[in-house]
Amino acid sequence: MADENSPLESEIRRLIAAAGPMPVVEYMRLALTHPQHGYYLRRDPIGAAGDFITAPEISQMFGELIGLWMAAIWQGLGAPENVRVVELGPGRGTLMVDALRAAGIVRGFHAALVLHLVEISPALQQAQKRRLQGLDLPITWHTALDDVPGGPSIIIANEFIDALPVHQAVKRADGWHERVIDIAPDGRLAFGLARDPLPLFEQTLPSGLRQAPEGAIFEWRSDAIGLELGKRVRKDGAALILDYGPMQSGLGDTLQAVAGHSFADPLRAPGEHDLTAHVDFAALAHSAQSMGARSYGPVPQRYLLFRLGILARADALKAKASAEKAAEIELALSRLLAGGPRGMGELFKALAIADPKLGAPPGFGTPT
Ligand code: SAH
Repeated sequence: MADENSPLESEIRRLIAAAGPMPVVEYMRLALTHPQHGYYLRRDPIGAAGDFITAPEISQMFGELIGLWMAAIWQGLGAPENVRVVELGPGRGTLMVDALRAAGIVRGFHAALVLHLVEISPALQQAQKRRLQGLDLPITWHTALDDVPGGPSIIIANEFIDALPVHQAVKRADGWHERVIDIAPDGRLAFGLARDPLPLFEQTLPSGLRQAPEGAIFEWRSDAIGLELGKRVRKDGAALILDYGPMQSGLGDTLQAVAGHSFADPLRAPGEHDLTAHVDFAALAHSAQSMGARSYGPVPQRYLLFRLGILARADALKAKASAEKAAEIELALSRLLAGGPRGMGELFKALAIADPKLGAPPGFGTPT
């Protein structure tokens, strides 16, 4: 018999018993954001004692370069008197603290900005308050981007989109079926397929993926976030999205659970582990473009960091540091820039979305 050790698992079992197999997207949504038992509602997942580590927690250089990016965008917008700096999923607030410290060298920027932090986790909201309280800036917290007022905006999202729930579909001879979660005969939660194929699904896929073999898996997110970002930045705004995923839309199951810095089974103990899936940057860019914004990239994260001057920044920090500290800076640099399929510099990508009149944002080339 299955172990029912997570309270959310019991609730998911009740829901499946009452309403039938649950689409993967709904399972992921509950596992991450269920109001009582969701992973992000219950704990602070980041850092050595948590489940995973993110680029801003590896080195201050990451946030600092993003801060300079933000200030350059503000200047590109004509240095408006009021600009909203919006961060989606700010974690412990580290990126923003580092960013605003670095951006402080640009005269007038601090005085113009109002900070809006979109954070669903009460524990992380508290962590952000502690971290940012020393800054003499107006800050408002929200639990959803919809609640942030419009107007000139600079939006940053690092490792946020990967936490938004994905749908999965599996190709069968009669078409694509939504992937669901059901209770197997042995009592465990198990993957299954919806009985009927999704109507007209193949036509909506990127053309290169339409001839997929049977058994192939396609993942997609609601286009709501891409549309919303596009709408917010198409006039007087820009967004920088950093996350992991491929350069082009692809096939494959990328749903993964991470706990204590190693991989776990996504169907065991929902709510106890982080669940993520790769970001489809092409789809995100497409949604934003359909709202009239222009998109740039994705580019591998290390290209962006190189172009924003991470090597010079590392040299400057090392020049002032002890030998031990300099070795730490060197190590952090190599982690951020690491190549290979799992290296942060290459697996992670950066996408910019901006008002077409802005031109290419710092670190990016021609539009896509
Ligand atoms: N950007 C941070 C944290 C990444 S972890 C960093 O780089 O360190 C993901 C963040 O998004 C966390 O702060 C999490 O609480 C938040 N989050 C996840 N899903 C969310 C949702 N649906 N709405 C708002 N915030 C969410």
